[in-house]
Amino acid sequence: MDIGDADDTDIPRGGVRVLTVLVPVTITVSVALLISQWRLRVATRALAAGRQELEHLLLSVPKIIWRAGPDGVPDLVNKRFATLTGVDLVAPGAVEFQHLVHPDDINAVGRSWAKAKASRRPFQITFRLRHADGGYRWMSATGRPAFSTSGDLLRWYGGISDIDAEVGALATVQRLNATLEQRVEERTHDLTLSEARYRRLFEVSNVSFCEQDIGDAKIWLDELKRDGVTDFRAYVTAHPEFLDRCVTAIKTVEVNEALARLLGYQNCGELAAKPPRENAETAVKVLTDQLEAAFHGWTNIEGTTVLIGKDDRRIPVLYTVRLVSDTRQVSSHIDLTERERIEALRTAAQAELARSNRIATVGALSTSLAHELNQPIAAIMTDAGTGVRWLEADPPNTDGLRRVLRRLEVNGKRLADIVQRTRDQLVKGTRTASAFDLGQLIAETKDLLERDLTMRQSAMTVACPHDLPQVIGDRVEVRQVLVNLLMNGLDAMAAVPASQRQLSVAVGHGVNGMIRVAVADTGPGIAEEDMAKLFQPFFTTKPGGMGIGLQICRTAVEAMGGTLKAGNNLGGGAVFTFTVPAVDIPHPVPSVAIA
Ligand code: ADP
Repeated sequence: MDIGDADDTDIPRGGVRVLTVLVPVTITVSVALLISQWRLRVATRALAAGRQELEHLLLSVPKIIWRAGPDGVPDLVNKRFATLTGVDLVAPGAVEFQHLVHPDDINAVGRSWAKAKASRRPFQITFRLRHADGGYRWMSATGRPAFSTSGDLLRWYGGISDIDAEVGALATVQRLNATLEQRVEERTHDLTLSEARYRRLFEVSNVSFCEQDIGDAKIWLDELKRDGVTDFRAYVTAHPEFLDRCVTAIKTVEVNEALARLLGYQNCGELAAKPPRENAETAVKVLTDQLEAAFHGWTNIEGTTVLIGKDDRRIPVLYTVRLVSDTRQVSSHIDLTERERIEALRTAAQAELARSNRIATVGALSTSLAHELNQPIAAIMTDAGTGVRWLEADPPNTDGLRRVLRRLEVNGKRLADIVQRTRDQLVKGTRTASAFDLGQLIAETKDLLERDLTMRQSAMTVACPHDLPQVIGDRVEVRQVLVNLLMNGLDAMAAVPASQRQLSVAVGHGVNGMIRVAVADTGPGIAEEDMAKLFQPFFTTKPGGMGIGLQICRTAVEAMGGTLKAGNNLGGGAVFTFTVPAVDIPHPVPSVAIA
C-alpha cells in the first residue's frame, strides 16, 4: 500500500528514481520466484521418487501392508493382498474384508478390531485368511494408530503376515504334547494299577516276601567293575572288609505279613528293622550271593537256608531272590519245615535200614566168625594144655613141646587169616583210583554235612592251599572217610557247649609227596586208654555205636597208599590225620581193586 502512494505522487519528478528502485526489486522477486519454482520442482520430483521407492518397497515386502482412515475404513493396501487373496485393490475401502476371514474367526477378529478402534491402541489378531486358491491360511494382523501433534487420530497403519507354517508347527507340537501327555497318563495309570496289584500281592499273599535296598552296595560294585574287576568271588575273598561293608549296607525296606507270621513277629516293622545278616543261619552266604548277582546283573538266584525268627526259632526255607530294579531285590521264601520233617523221617528210616543191614551183616559175620574161630581156638586151647603138660614133665618133652608150639603158630595164623578175611568182607567193594581235586571234595563234603552242622549247632572251617596238586585215589572212599571222621567229631562235641563246637579241616603237604588232611574237633578228645583200641573192630564208646567206622576208614586209606592216625590236640579235642598220594609223585598207583 505504501508503494502505491509513492507511485502516484513522485512519478513526474522522480520517475527515473522510481524506476531505478522498482527494476531491481522486480528482478529480485522474479529470481526468487524462479528459485522457488525450481525448488518446488526438485521437491516434487524427490517426492515422486520417494513415493515410487516407497511403492517398490511396499511391493517387495512379503507381507500385506495396509492403511486405514481414522474411521477404520482401509484406503490403501499393497499388491501382496491382491496376490494372496485374488481380490482387486482398486478401492480397498469397498472390499468386504469379512468375506475373506474364516467363518470361525470372524467374530474374534471383529471384536479385536472394534476394541482397538475404541481404545485407539495397537492390536494384533491371529485369524485364517482365504487365499486365491480357496484355501485358508493362518495370518497375523497388526495395526497401530498414528496421531497428530494435537492428539487427533489421523490414520491406522498395519501389516498382515503369513504364520500358517508356525501355527501348523505349533499345532503339531501341541498334538504331540497332548499325545505324549495322554501316553504318560495311561502309563502312570497302568503303573499305579500294577503297583497296587503288586502291593496287594505283597501284603496279602501267603507266600512270604521281603524287599531289600542294595543301592549303596550297588554303587561300590559298579566302582569295582569300572576298576576292571571281573571275578567278584576272588575279589571279596581277597578283600573281606569290602564284602563286610557291602553286606552291612544292604537294608530291608519292607516285609509282608506272611513273612512276619512265619518268623513269629507280631508286626512287619519289627522284623524289617532287624539287620539282614541276622535273619538266617547262612545269611552272609545268601547276601554274598545277592551281591554277586547284582555285580553281574543276574536277575534271579535261589537256594536253601534256615531263617532265624523271633525267640531264635529256625525255619528251613527255599528262597528266590529277584532283582526288580538296579537297587531293589525282592526275595520270596517257601517253608520247608514239613518237607524237611518228611525228609528227616526218610533219612532216619534209611539210616535205620542201613544200620539194621549192617547189624545183620555183622551178626551173620559174627556167627560165621564164631563158628570158624571155634575150631582153631579149641585146637589152640588143647595144644596149650598139652604144651604145659609136656613142659612140666620130667624131663620136659621138648620135641613134643616144639610140635605143639608149631601147631599153635599155624592155628594162630589161621585165626589171623580168618580175622583178616572178615575185616575185608566188612569193607568189601571195588575201588577205583583216579586223580581228583581234594579241596573241591572237602567243600562238597562240607555242603553235604550242612544240615548236620546246623542241627548240632557246630561250625566248620576248611583251610586248603590254592596250589594243592590233585590227589589220586577213590574219590567216593575219601569222601566216606571225611564223612566218618567229621561225624565222629560232631558226636564227640555233643559233650561241650554249642558255642565251643568247632570242626576244622586243614590240608597241607605231607612227607614223600603225600597230601595230609587233619580233621580236628573241640570235643573232649580220646582217652589215653582208648587210644590203642580205636582202630580195633567193634571198639566203641557210644551207646548205639558199631565200632567199625575207623576200622573201615583206615582200610580204605591204606588201600590208597596212605595212613590214618589218631591223636589229641594240645588245646583239647581229637585230631585224625590221614594222607593220600598226590598225582605227581613217582609212587606206584595203588591197587585199584580189593576183593
Ligand atoms: P563208632 O563211631 O560207631 O563208635 P568208630 O570206629 O567210628 O565207631 O569210632 C570208634 C570209637 O572211637 C568211638 O566210639 C569213640 O570212642 C572214638 N572216637 C572216634 N572219633 C572220636 C573223636 N573225634 N573224639 C573222641 N573219640 C572218638
